[in-house]
Amino acid sequence: MWKSFRIGSLFGIPLRLDITFLIILPVFAWIIGAQIEIMVDILNDFFDAGIDATTVSEGNRPWILGFISAIGLFVGVVLHELGHSLTARRYGFPIESITLWLLGGVASFREMPEDWRQELNIAIAGPIVSIAVGVLSYGLFLITPEFADSVGTVTFQGALFVFSYLAILNVFLAVFNMIPAFPMDGGRVLRALLARNRPYAKATQQAASIGRMFAIFFGIFGLLAFNIILIAIAFFIYIAASGEERHVMLKAAFEGVTIGDIMTPKDRLRLVEPSLTIDELIQRMFRERHTGYPVMTDGRLIGLVTLADAQQAQRSGQQGMTVENVMSTDLETIDPDTDVMEAIDRMQREKIGRLLVVDNDQLVGLVTRTDVMTALEILQRSGTMAFATTEVSSERPQL
Ligand code: ZN
Repeated sequence: MWKSFRIGSLFGIPLRLDITFLIILPVFAWIIGAQIEIMVDILNDFFDAGIDATTVSEGNRPWILGFISAIGLFVGVVLHELGHSLTARRYGFPIESITLWLLGGVASFREMPEDWRQELNIAIAGPIVSIAVGVLSYGLFLITPEFADSVGTVTFQGALFVFSYLAILNVFLAVFNMIPAFPMDGGRVLRALLARNRPYAKATQQAASIGRMFAIFFGIFGLLAFNIILIAIAFFIYIAASGEERHVMLKAAFEGVTIGDIMTPKDRLRLVEPSLTIDELIQRMFRERHTGYPVMTDGRLIGLVTLADAQQAQRSGQQGMTVENVMSTDLETIDPDTDVMEAIDRMQREKIGRLLVVDNDQLVGLVTRTDVMTALEILQRSGTMAFATTEVSSERPQL
């Protein structure tokens, strides 16, 4: 993933900046600066703002005001995400971080509410905060004339512009996010409402289909209007909707299934000794069409060796290497009682293909991505892929 760094924390929630945010901030500043005269006309018409176009568009003032407005917009985005996060936390769901990135803000949740009312409230809290921030900005705009005499004309005109513009931007942010394009806020509201009278997985599937339709619509509209940000949002919605749908489906399919149920048990595992040479190991991998072996000695698990390890040893050209020299000893283990979904999440997050199943320090089996896919196929074929669950959690990306 892209790089992001922590810049502080709010209410104990880490606030992070994604590297893409550093690109979009000046772009927004530039867009606002370049269109300042058009915006002034709109604001004057809309709010009777009385902004003097000549004063704010002189010299480098459009860029300074553009930059201040862009920062103000992203402060609004952070407050919007805080609205989601603090509501979720009130229901007991921990928040990992709030990240500002290319397309705004993301609040990262580990788990999702099981209750449709909770999801509804969490989803709607962001737009409500944005409306409040918009109203607050409008209030600041209204009291700005009180300070007209104590600040210079330029500051006064600049403040009128920034506050009235932020009033519109934040209300727009609320309205745009309420479009029912799952996983945008409006789409989450839609899923919550659908989940009132149908299984959660079914509601997710329907909301995701509608989300994808919106994504295609945004994409086409973005192409016609040559709006790159809209095209990026379209891509994001399409991918995120499908990703979250898949996650919920898997979770529903694997409801109540544990690692112990789907792992390859120890007595059927192929094991290797640490003294095996790399050449012999590769021959075995070819023969058995198997790419990862737990390494055991005296009945004790000491490592895991994969095809990638063997290939690396071969490339190094060193002679006489054995499994012991190349195996990884930093072992990814999992308890047999763990839910399958947790293993899927872990393999995805850590980009690994297999987990060693360990119970009381004893190797009891191995679970691979292939095991998971095979189990899924069996579950689906045997028709026990149940939509009848409301107990689902997932990581939720959020606009
Ligand atoms: Zn939101």
